[in-house]
Amino acid sequence: KGALYIVPTPIGNLSDITYRALEVLKNVNMIAAENIRHTNILLQHFNIKNYIVSMNKENEKNKSDNLIEELKQGKIIALVSNAGTPIINDPGNILIKKCHFFNIQVIPLPGACAAITALSASGINKNRFCYEGFLPSKKKIRCDLLHSLKEETRTIIFYETKYRILESIQDIIEQIDQNRHIVIAREITKKWESIYGATATSILEWLKEDKYRYKGEMVVIIDGFKPLKTTFISKKILDTFFILRNSF
Ligand code: SAM
Repeated sequence: KGALYIVPTPIGNLSDITYRALEVLKNVNMIAAENIRHTNILLQHFNIKNYIVSMNKENEKNKSDNLIEELKQGKIIALVSNAGTPIINDPGNILIKKCHFFNIQVIPLPGACAAITALSASGINKNRFCYEGFLPSKKKIRCDLLHSLKEETRTIIFYETKYRILESIQDIIEQIDQNRHIVIAREITKKWESIYGATATSILEWLKEDKYRYKGEMVVIIDGFKPLKTTFISKKILDTFFILRNSF
């Protein structure tokens, strides 16, 4: 039987590709790519020639069946998306599920992922986080989701585009908290990289001051809900009171 390699690619700076990723892309029998043209540019940059087939959101159901047949015949295939780690808001999961079903080995390579790279520079608690992908485009559904995250104590990470960032931050102000600390990591690893953090209200003002501040690709990181310290203190006082009372 063959094997499927999951190969992350750079999210901007091409030097972020790993040695192992290059080796795999060079040596596999074929590459299943989200976009052939995009992957061709990457391969050309590194002087790699290999056979690329397209597998995207639209054709993944059918295409994955063809790829499974190839894998069953012993082919080694690399899965790549346009940028970052395949599967993370990118196609590939149907194929991976089928591989597990047919007992075909899936081999993941570590590499670039915008969410994790942004989180690492955010200064926000990194030990417990939840990833929300892109927020829903319909306002009502987006607001409901944000409202349900109001008391989420873990750090919240989501992907956003320049077209909706102002609206989304406004929704965060209304549904979560105007004073919640937010970090926007934009154009990571690229020329105009910027990482900026402030309260939700200040960040909205800051963005509105200059449209270049929300140009390009971005990750939004929201600090988790912090239950009031007084609640903790009053609980401590109450606990002490009960201990004292019970000891008499
Ligand atoms: N698979 C990718 C990953 O591992 O991060 C994510 C693909 S998703 C379709 C694309 C989104 O990722 C963009 O809209 C943006 O929110 C985020 N993104 C990708 N590259 C980025 C970068 N260089 N800087 C900031 N955000 C980025």
